[in-house]
Amino acid sequence: MTAAVELARFGAEVDIVERNRRLGGHAAEFACKALEACVKCGACLIAQTIETAVTHPRISAYTDSRIEAITRRHRFTYTIRKTSGASMCGDADAVVIATGFRTFDPSNKPYGYGRFPNMITNLDLERMLRANAKAIRPSDGVAPRRIAFIQCVGSRDAKLGHLWCSQFCCGAALRAARLIKHRQPESFITIFFIDIQTFGRDFESFYRQSQLEFRFIRAIPADAFQLEDSGIRLSFMDDSSPQSREEIFDLVVLSTGMLPPEGLAQTADDLGLALAPSGYAGTQAHRGVFAAGAVRGPMRIEETIADARHTACRVLAFLGIKGGIPETPVAERRPLASRLVAPGRG
Ligand SMILES: Cc1cc2nc3c(=O)[nH]c(=O)nc-3n(C[C@H](O)[C@H](O)[C@H](O)COP(=O)(O)OP(=O)(O)OC[C@H]3O[C@@H](n4cnc5c(N)ncnc54)[C@H](O)[C@@H]3O)c2cc1C
Ligand code: SF4
Ligand code: SF4
Repeated sequence: MTAAVELARFGAEVDIVERNRRLGGHAAEFACKALEACVKCGACLIAQTIETAVTHPRISAYTDSRIEAITRRHRFTYTIRKTSGASMCGDADAVVIATGFRTFDPSNKPYGYGRFPNMITNLDLERMLRANAKAIRPSDGVAPRRIAFIQCVGSRDAKLGHLWCSQFCCGAALRAARLIKHRQPESFITIFFIDIQTFGRDFESFYRQSQLEFRFIRAIPADAFQLEDSGIRLSFMDDSSPQSREEIFDLVVLSTGMLPPEGLAQTADDLGLALAPSGYAGTQAHRGVFAAGAVRGPMRIEETIADARHTACRVLAFLGIKGGIPETPVAERRPLASRLVAPGRG
């Protein structure tokens, strides 16, 4: 969306093709984590961009839609297929792939995700906090007292070949944990971690404050068992003892990381874009095909927005649009030669 808005500002006509029913990507599902003051999670940066994208006269946003076929001769021609079955054709001088990421599915990890109701992911927690404004145990709707976060699930994992740090999940866990502690002071929160990545503005001081409020254990639990009351027993080894330790929690949150989005390999193949060895788009541009945001590699919201602006500049240079075209009222608009298609958003 950021790329689309920037391009439209400079006079290009843009189609946004979004497979979901609504625009906004993952960030549209996040809860505000403000305590007494904003904690700079970045989630609300999205609302204004959606508003601009859906009201801009040079942007057409197709939700519930996919690109069914795309071919390149002199230009790109494509068919947009809506879930309802309706379809429409378009052509474009450039394509921006902004299909983001998917989160790691921890079902195959030995944590019982999908079987133990009180074992949830960070994305489940975001949805829970947005819907209920507090943490609850899914098994009975009761507020949990002992809560654990397990970091780096599906990231920095040599066995899976996922060597990257997903960048957002330390910050997201600490912000969510502080919000829970703020609203549910009786909760006791433990963070299992390898090391905490302090990306972003003011995060260092935020982390120091978190260290006063939570218990940090430098260990990643190996196993989880469900007890009769649906509590979860985690076993882990830390520096304090050569023996394995066990502890019981009411709710466990798996900080699952980012993976390249579904179908990216096929999209890249169709458009002649070579992917990075990690499976992400990596590169920002290749013969009229551009990429923006987390589809290029793990990024936080602020970085995604900055990246999309940078990509938009490259697209404008490719299209030969210099200095931009001043905004004009809809009635005065002339048809423009350049049309763009942005699958997803950036
Ligand atoms: C649980 C969780 C918490 C997070 N918390 C934070 C935080 O506090 N702060 C922060 O900065 N970052 C956070 N992040 C990271 C943040 O979500 C990303 O930085 C951001 O969403 C990246 O934006 P994007 O547009 O590149 O990708 P996405 O948000 O993934 O958006 C991609 C869009 O493309 C669409 N799409 C995908 N494939 C297709 C297709 N084939 N055709 C059409 N449309 C398609 C998707 O439906 C989606 O709307 C968090 C992530 C998670 C999972
Ligand atoms: S940046 Fe995050 S914490 Fe701050 S107001 Fe926006 S949604 Fe709330
Ligand atoms: S941001 Fe933190 S939890 Fe996420 S992969 Fe990096 S170190 Fe692990």
